[in-house]
Parts: sequence; C-alpha cells; structure tokens
Amino acid sequence: MSEDTKTAGPAMDAYWMPFTANRQFKKSPRLLTRADGMYFVDDKGRQVLDGIAGLWCVNAGHNRPRIVSAIQQQAAELDFAPPFQMGHPKAFELAERLAALTPAGLNKVFFTNSGSESVDTALKMAIAYHRVRGEGARTRLIGRERGYHGVNFGGISVGGMVANRKMFGTMLGGVDHIRHTHDPVRNSYSVGQPAHGAEFADDLERLVALHDASTIAAVIVEPVAGSTGVLIPPQGYLQRLREICDKHGILLIFDEVITGFGRTGHPFAAQTFGVTPDLMTVAKGLTNGCVPMGAVFAKQQIHDTFMNGPEHLIEFFHGYTYSAHPLACAAALGTLDTYAEEGLLTRAGEMQAYFAECLHSLKGEPHVIDVRNIGLVGGVELSPLPGEPAKRAFSIFLDCWEQGLLIRTTGDTIALSPPLIIERSHIDRIIDTLRAALRRAA
Ligand code: PLP
Repeated sequence: MSEDTKTAGPAMDAYWMPFTANRQFKKSPRLLTRADGMYFVDDKGRQVLDGIAGLWCVNAGHNRPRIVSAIQQQAAELDFAPPFQMGHPKAFELAERLAALTPAGLNKVFFTNSGSESVDTALKMAIAYHRVRGEGARTRLIGRERGYHGVNFGGISVGGMVANRKMFGTMLGGVDHIRHTHDPVRNSYSVGQPAHGAEFADDLERLVALHDASTIAAVIVEPVAGSTGVLIPPQGYLQRLREICDKHGILLIFDEVITGFGRTGHPFAAQTFGVTPDLMTVAKGLTNGCVPMGAVFAKQQIHDTFMNGPEHLIEFFHGYTYSAHPLACAAALGTLDTYAEEGLLTRAGEMQAYFAECLHSLKGEPHVIDVRNIGLVGGVELSPLPGEPAKRAFSIFLDCWEQGLLIRTTGDTIALSPPLIIERSHIDRIIDTLRAALRRAA
C-alpha cells in the first residue's frame, strides 16, 4: 500500500458491510471515530448530532462514565465465565434488577447477545413450552406483515418485510402472518396512537379459523414497528390481540428490541400500552449499545413448566457461549444505574409533547405524506420518486449527514429515535435540518 493510500483512510475492500449499500458507501465513506453525549465525531473532526441513538440503542447517549468504567473494571477482573453449568455473580444481579423493571409477572430472564438471538430464543421457548405441557402440536408461529424481528431464520420467518425474506429460500415454513396496522386513509398525521384500527387484531381469528388454535404456539409483534417505518399501534389494538391470544391459549410475544428501555416513556412499551405479553425480547438499550447483549423475559409460569424431571438434567436445551457475558453484564448494570440516576426510562414521556409538536410541524413540507410519533420515536413518510422507491429518502439521509445530523431511513420513511438525554435545542436542530433537506430534495 502506498503512503498516499494509507493517509487517505483505511483500505475498504475486505469489509462486506451489513445492511449497507456497499458500493455507494465505499465511494463516499461516512466514518465515525468518536462519540460523546448527543454527538458523534467523524474522521474529519466534524460533530454529527445523533438523531437515532446510534441504531435505536444508545439511549443514555454516548460515552457515559459509569458504563465505560464498569466495562473497563470488568475486563480486568473476570474476562469470561462459562455460562453452561456455571455462573458469575453479575449475571444474577442483572437478572434481578431487570425483573424489577419489567411488567408484573415477567420475572425470569434468559440472556442472549442480540435482538435476533432474543427473537429466536423466544420462538423456541414458546414451542418447547407447549410441548413440555403436552400440546406438542402447537408449533405454528404467527408474525405480522411489515414486522421486523432480526435476521436469523426464525426472525425472518415471522418477519414481514419482503426484502429481508425473499432471498433466503425455503426454511420459512410453519408460519403465517396477520395483517399490518398501517391505515393512512383513516390515520394519517395521528399524534400518538392512531384512533382507528383496533379491529386489525381480529385478523388473528382468521388464522385460527384456518389453522386451528391447537396448531399455533405464539404470535409475535413489535408493540411499535420500527424498521418498517414507524407504525404506532392503534388504540385498543394490542389489548384486542391479548384477548384473542388468551381465548385460544396462544402465547403473545412482544419484540421490544427497540421499544425497551425507555423509548416510549416507560421502561417498556408493554407498560406504556398497558398490555403484558407472555414473553418479551430486548437487546440494544439493555447495555446502551456498548457491548452486544439481548434478553428474553418470560412469565414465571412458563419458566416453571420447564422445571420438571430429574434435577440433574438440563431443562431447556438452548443457550449461547456468550449468554450473560461478564463484560455485557457489567455494561448493563452500568447502564441501568445511569438510567436510574438520570430518570431516563420515563424521560421520553416528558419530552414527547415538544418532540411531537416539532415533528408534526413538518406536515406540508415538500414530499411529506405522513408524520407518526410516540414517546421519542418519530416517522416522517415521503412520497417516493416515481419508479425509484427509497431514493428520495436516501438522498435526504445523505444531505442531513452533510449538515451534521444522523437520521435513518427505511424505504421512503425517515425514522428518528434520539438518545433519551435529548434537550429541546437538539430537537429544534434535528427538525430544522430535516426541513431544509426536504426543501432541497428533488
Ligand atoms: N427485533 C426488532 C424489533 C428490531 O428492531 C431489531 C433490530 O433493529 C431486531 C429484532 C434485531 O436485533 P439485532 O440487530 O440486535 O439482532
């Protein structure tokens, strides 16, 4: 490699980047080198306001002292402990602390390393639970159109975003999907939960009629669908889903990978919406994005159903080498301390009125066809460029980056999910930058 190439930045050939337009990126790289509070710093020394908490995960903002020192200390004290047939104290301490935050009843915690692994763990738990209690025919899993549940085979099977499924063949059987809840004709520009659409939950009855409840293990939904473009559940929808699941003995799984840890104004969206699932998946904000970690929360009774047979035998044949990794546990404990000290798990509730007011002021700007919000989540849907879906939103993403703001786009929807430490001045800047970019966009 010549000296010239070295000073121009890292070689970029070898790294096949995830969920990235690789060729576009490598022609015009966007490299982050540092981060603090609400800001990233790029390789040119520019400050970039973080409008998406990294990737819906850095809920307490970047470079938080308690988390940093917890990780540093842990690395020097206990770098690894095997999680099978062994334990370490912080894993138990973390599980107890988490169980105190979850909705009543969800008091058993199983650790994973990502949202995708949490989803696959919850799906396996649901099927195995029915089998252990003598209903082994309940193996079918129900997802929802436009759902996102990570990228492992279980997650893409129940997921409902076609681009994440269409390339990956025939292992997606044994699942079905209820319809999505997006209803722009009745609900566009809703502030908070849309008024119309509780009846979309009745679509589950259609699938029960088709497959019979005795074949269905679980239904999985995101309480707020994020990756598909921010879809807020209609008023009464999740309650109705809960009722239908109860009626038919179907487990309800909430995928709270993005909504968990304060995003909607309570620790979990289950609390915001007043509906308790049987299993709940989390990741991201669990460690403030600092060390990979996920978890599944299970109802006591689901856990207890497995606790049968001879005591020397393993009850649930599942787990990861890095389940409850010491570094992740330390990071999570530092994260929970930070959330508690700064009241961050309820801060989205305090900020949401101002955030909503600013976000909805984008109504009427060029290309905007809908605005949606809940807590500190915002979606701004644009009309696509004719024949070129996703291109207009992507050009706005690039424009904002040039102006020092990181946003996220999916299809033609712009998603915002800033760190929960956000102040009004940051909200103003996000909206001003976005407004200017919309006005410049083709
Ligand atoms: N579930 C939901 C709802 C998500 O939004 C995501 C990621 O964005 C995942 C699962 C997958 O998480 P991970 O990328 O950590 O595997």
